[in-house]
Amino acid sequence: MGDRWHVEVDRSVCIGSAQCVHRAPDGFRLDTARQSHPAEPDMDAGEGVLAAAENCPVEAIVITLLGSGEPVFPPED
Ligand code: SF4
Repeated sequence: MGDRWHVEVDRSVCIGSAQCVHRAPDGFRLDTARQSHPAEPDMDAGEGVLAAAENCPVEAIVITLLGSGEPVFPPED
């Protein structure tokens, strides 16, 4: 079985660039204030969502392993 992730967007830093929505259309939504949020807080691990986190210009997307809380992105130093 694949990993499950818990995904959060820090809306205090999100600038609404929509890049995450373009990279992972099933993973993120923009609200009416152009703030991103995960479509579901818990989701199957996926390359698109990881790429969205890696490419967010303000690193607003935080991914952890569901259950253990182990960091996926940003990775631990
Ligand atoms: S890529 Fe980052 S800054 Fe842009 S909408 Fe998504 S979370 Fe917000």
